[in-house]
Amino acid sequence: MKKDLLTRLNEGPIICAEGYLFAMERRGYLSAGAFVPEVVLEHPEVVSQLHKEFIRAGSDVIQAFTYYGHREKLRIIGKEDLLEPLQKNALKIANEAKDSFKDLDLMVCGDVANTNIFDPNDKNSFAECQKMYEEQVKWAKEAGVDFIVAETISWVDEMKIALKAIKDEGLIAVANYAIPRGEKTRDGYSVVDACKIIEDLGADVVGLNCYRGPDMTMKHLKDIRKNVTCHVAGLPVPYRTTEKDPTFLNIKDAECDCIPGENAFPIALDNLYCNRFEMAEFAKKCVQQNINFIGICCGAEAHHVREMALAIGKNPISSKYSPDMTKHFHHGTDKSLKKVNKEIKY
Ligand SMILES: [Zn+2]
Repeated sequence: MKKDLLTRLNEGPIICAEGYLFAMERRGYLSAGAFVPEVVLEHPEVVSQLHKEFIRAGSDVIQAFTYYGHREKLRIIGKEDLLEPLQKNALKIANEAKDSFKDLDLMVCGDVANTNIFDPNDKNSFAECQKMYEEQVKWAKEAGVDFIVAETISWVDEMKIALKAIKDEGLIAVANYAIPRGEKTRDGYSVVDACKIIEDLGADVVGLNCYRGPDMTMKHLKDIRKNVTCHVAGLPVPYRTTEKDPTFLNIKDAECDCIPGENAFPIALDNLYCNRFEMAEFAKKCVQQNINFIGICCGAEAHHVREMALAIGKNPISSKYSPDMTKHFHHGTDKSLKKVNKEIKY
C-alpha cells in the first residue's frame, strides 16, 4: 500500500516545491496584483510543464495549483463562474503530472490559503471563509489528493476554520502560517503558540511558508520544532529578507532607483534573489533540526529545488544536468581546452 505523508515524514525529509503564482507571472500567464491562476484554464500545458520541472528537480509533492483560485479572488476579476472548473482542472493537471512519472513515489496535495476576507470583527466573514474552505477541500478530496496544505494564513482563527474543513473530510492537514513584521500572527499570537494551538486541534504538520526568506523563516522554525511534537514544515521565499525587513511584502532594493512605487514586491525582487546554494543551506539546516517538510514558496524555480534536493541526499532526475565546470572554456580543467582562453582574467 502507498505510504501516506506522515509515514513518509517519519522516514525522513521530503521536498515540496511551490511558488506557482510568481513563476507564472514571470512567464506572462497571469497578472501581478490580482494574482489569480487563470493559466490553469487558459494554458494548462504551462502549469503541467512547471509541475514536471519541479518533479524532475526532486519535489516529492505536486501541489495542485489552486492557490488563489478561490471564490474571493475570482470575484475580484469578475470571473466567479470559473471557480469550480478552475479548481477541478488544477487538480486534474496535478494528477496527470503524477501519472507521467510512474517510477517515482509522488504525492499530490490540495491547497487552501488566505481568503483575504477574514476579519476578526466581522462574524459573517467566519462563515464565508468556512464556505470557501469547504468547497475547495471537497473538490480536492474528490480528486483523491494525498493531503491538503492550508497556507499563507496569518490569523490563528482563520487557520482554525481551514483546519476544521480539512479534518471534517478526514484528510491529512499541513498548516503553514505566514508571519508578518512584528513576529506575531495578525491576532497577536506568538509563532510557537499559533503552531501549538493548531497542532492541538489536529493539524498533522505545522510550520511556516511564504513572506520570509530562509533566515527569517529558520529563526522561527527552530522554536516551533522545540515546542510541538508533530512534524514541522518550512517553505520560505527565495529572497534575502532581513531583521529590518523580515518579509518581502514591504522591502526595497537600495541599489535600484527605477522601480515604480519603490517597493520591490512583487515584481522587482530580482536583486534580492537567493541563489540555489542559499536555498540548499536552508534545506540542510532543516534536516539538522529534524524539520522534515522542506520546501520553497513564491519565487521558486527548478534550480533552487534541485539544489535543495541534492543537499539533503536525494538524487533528482535533473541532476543529470548538474554543473560540470571542468568542461568550461575559461574555468575548465579538461586537458583538451585551449590555454589561450584560460590565461586571462575576464
Ligand atoms: Zn508564497
